[in-house]
Amino acid sequence: MAVTYPGEHTEVLVSADQITHKVQQLAHRITLDYKDRPLVLVVILKGAYVFAADLIRYIDLPLHVDFMALSSYGPSSRTSGVVRIQNDLNDSIEGQHVLIVEDIVDTGLTLNYLFGHLKARGPASVRICALLDKPDRRMVAVPVHYKGFEIPNEFVVGYGLDFAERYRNLPYVAVLHRDAE
Ligand code: 5GP
Repeated sequence: MAVTYPGEHTEVLVSADQITHKVQQLAHRITLDYKDRPLVLVVILKGAYVFAADLIRYIDLPLHVDFMALSSYGPSSRTSGVVRIQNDLNDSIEGQHVLIVEDIVDTGLTLNYLFGHLKARGPASVRICALLDKPDRRMVAVPVHYKGFEIPNEFVVGYGLDFAERYRNLPYVAVLHRDAE
């Protein structure tokens, strides 16, 4: 795969095979934990859509998928610390078992806000599934029930994660190096 942009290069951190294996493991645990109970997957756009698309194909439960878009990094690689709902869910989650699917937990601000916000809508339960976790950067505690990989404090792209909308199509997770840095 030769996705390149001038002045930037990537270094594989989590391979496509490692991701596939982990996604299957997570889906298997989710399937066992919810035991035939219907599940609403709340997929956080845009970063989590690739992960979610793979994950749902291994979850063997009655499933409903909905999407939410939250404000995130924008064109820079620094968090704003401000969380805003840009696009809300289509359907009510009242009385439903909800699983939030997120690409990465960094400071935890986004998921901390969302977790509390969705709980206030009266679901039967809310849990979090995140592919990546950067524990060194955590500012607020977040209960991540299903976690893929812990990674070091590096800015990563690929498998749905972008830098200024680039690199989402990489089939692996890579550290982004910018030559000017
Ligand atoms: P938090 O609120 O936990 O600081 O940030 C969560 C959001 O920040 C993620 O959903 C993601 O959009 C973005 N983010 C955090 N770390 C990275 C990273 O290393 N790479 C990319 N592409 N986005 C990140």
